[in-house]
Amino acid sequence: MTESGTDIGAHGARLTIDLGAIAANWRMLAARGADCAAVVKADAYGCGIAQVGPALWAAGCRTFFVAHLSEGVAARAALPEAAIYILNGLPPGACATFAAHDLRPVLGSREEIAEWAAVSGGGRPAALHVDTGMNRLGLPVPEALELAGDPGIAAAGIDLLLSHFVSAEKPEDPVNARQITDFARVRAAYPGLLASLANSSGVFLDGARHDLLRPGYALFGGNPTPESANPMRPVVRLEALIAQVRHVEAGTSVGYNGRWTAPAPSRLATLSLGYADGFPRSISGRGQALVGGVPCPILGLVSMDLIILDVTAAPAAQRGATAVLIGDELDIDTVGRAAGTIGYEILTGLGSRYVRTYVG
Ligand SMILES: *Cc1c(COP(=O)(O)O)cnc(C)c1O
Repeated sequence: MTESGTDIGAHGARLTIDLGAIAANWRMLAARGADCAAVVKADAYGCGIAQVGPALWAAGCRTFFVAHLSEGVAARAALPEAAIYILNGLPPGACATFAAHDLRPVLGSREEIAEWAAVSGGGRPAALHVDTGMNRLGLPVPEALELAGDPGIAAAGIDLLLSHFVSAEKPEDPVNARQITDFARVRAAYPGLLASLANSSGVFLDGARHDLLRPGYALFGGNPTPESANPMRPVVRLEALIAQVRHVEAGTSVGYNGRWTAPAPSRLATLSLGYADGFPRSISGRGQALVGGVPCPILGLVSMDLIILDVTAAPAAQRGATAVLIGDELDIDTVGRAAGTIGYEILTGLGSRYVRTYVG
């Protein structure tokens, strides 16, 4: 992974992914008192399963979760010995593909349990998803209680019970306590199974940790405790090349639809990165980039391949210099807020057009 001026020159921008920070984040969460898995769906939250998977394995992570069967196949290629669970369940007729890649479905309905049991005969592990409030995937709590002790559970090889929080990032939301209580009740009805409830934010809720933590976002530097300082190390850094710098007079409008007009003589820089790189167009007129550490407003509409910055206050802005779009004080949560979304969407939308560099 060489880093040279040519790389960023040829591609317009560079995404740097710190695998050492991902490993450190995993160790920090694992130290909170349960075995710790890693959720690496959506190509490891946009960071690349082929690189992130082995880095987490080397840190000690042995259990991984992805959303889709296809993601499981990609994860298996990167993680030959890991336990890999497929969160979105068992699609009809997919048992053979699960078996071929030694993947484990997270079963969420009686039909899925029966189909898996018929094919695997209990010889292949699976998890059982219990729905404690999302009303999205899994058996409702009464149904899960009813099914406890049913021979179909053992026949399906179920060894892990899991559920998912509705609002774990809002510790004061009463739904958390309700889910924690309901999950504990279900768990008590399935005494032989391991249990997993906590996503990134859930790791920080009392009574939620059980046997296996299931963080995703926090591993990649997202703040699992948005109401206080981020305890995680930043992982991604996005820098774009300054293609041109120009002076404009007061009254000059810039970009598509002339959405921004200079109120005074200004110095502008044009960055070689746009929404086709996964940088959200919804940040138009609201976000910032850093040039030489100076926050510079994003002007007008983000184009497909270019962004215009006001660099009047940033003397370091020169052709060939770089601007930071994600990194330093512009963390993924901040960028997500500026774009009217969440950091999760910024991460999973990271593009494939710029140079990717893995460090650590
Ligand atoms: C995505 C997901 C996680 C991880 O959530 P984060 O908030 O990213 O930590 C855990 N469990 C399930 C079921 C998920 O879908």
